Amino acid sequence: MTLSGKARVAGIIGWPVAHSLSMRLHGFWLDRFGIDGVYAPFPVRPGGLEQALRALPLLGIAGVNLTVPHKVQAMTVLDRVDDLTRRIGAANTIIVAEDGALEGRNTDGYGFIESLKAAAADWSAKGGPAVILGAGGAARAVIVALQDAGVPCIRIANRTLSTAQGLADELGPDIEAIAWDQRAAGLGDAALLVNTTSLGLTGQPALDIALDDLPPGALVTDVVYAPLRTPLLEAAAARGNVTVDGLGMLLHQGRPGFAAWFGRDPEVTDALRAHVLAGAG
Ligand code: NDP
Repeated sequence: MTLSGKARVAGIIGWPVAHSLSMRLHGFWLDRFGIDGVYAPFPVRPGGLEQALRALPLLGIAGVNLTVPHKVQAMTVLDRVDDLTRRIGAANTIIVAEDGALEGRNTDGYGFIESLKAAAADWSAKGGPAVILGAGGAARAVIVALQDAGVPCIRIANRTLSTAQGLADELGPDIEAIAWDQRAAGLGDAALLVNTTSLGLTGQPALDIALDDLPPGALVTDVVYAPLRTPLLEAAAARGNVTVDGLGMLLHQGRPGFAAWFGRDPEVTDALRAHVLAGAG
């Protein structure tokens, strides 16, 4: 639609940013609501983040999402950060407040939990231990969200054990670090298995894990969404486990930012999924 002089402006800062699906995501909602607004890509090199963020209030921009490599560095620039975001240690959503302050949030964990609820209505966080594969940025958001949702115990298996141990020390005491070659050992009583590594992503090796001990009632999910059906999800579905793909997390994490910037609470629908997937190439 043609913008007026009062159009609301938001966008995503990343380097690179051209591949991001967020333009399709927010563009769909802007069209759906007929909003006088735009969501734009802002390619910003790592060294330019602080200047770019400080320019947002000056330019009248309502806020931005952040993607690789900016989510952690932004924490040193933001004026206000909520407790959840501080625990995760990274921000993916910035809202420019009325007074010009930069408010940072992390909505990745929210998106993860909302996608589980939407795809597997009878999953309960309190139902049993969660096994998390990986200990990077996505894992931090997932782990903190699962803690807040009430998961009784979390086991993290990571290729670099010291990183998993560091997360357990920082975010515990309900977290145990497991060596990568022992990753299947914690599955016996698990209610949830989450892949947060990049294994299974197009161009990466498949995730190799023996699922024999995993209870049939356990939910299996993957934050990787390209391809949508990763080898892990295929293997889990073949043995009867309910599976949830990673696209829902991406779609749901966008909702709080959109609501704050454009004043409407958007929904995640099949039509939205299809529209965003069509841009995934
Ligand atoms: P990071 O680089 O922070 O972490 C990568 C993780 O993968 C680390 O734990 C790393 O282990 C592990 N890893 C990488 N290669 C291997 C390998 N060959 N064998 C075993 N482990 C490996 O990345 P992010 O956490 O930011 O992203 C991870 C994935 O999640 C990406 O595919 C990303 O696209 C996806 N993602 C999806 C989101 C969604 O909305 N669905 C949101 C955010 C991310 P080590 O510590 O040993 O290096």
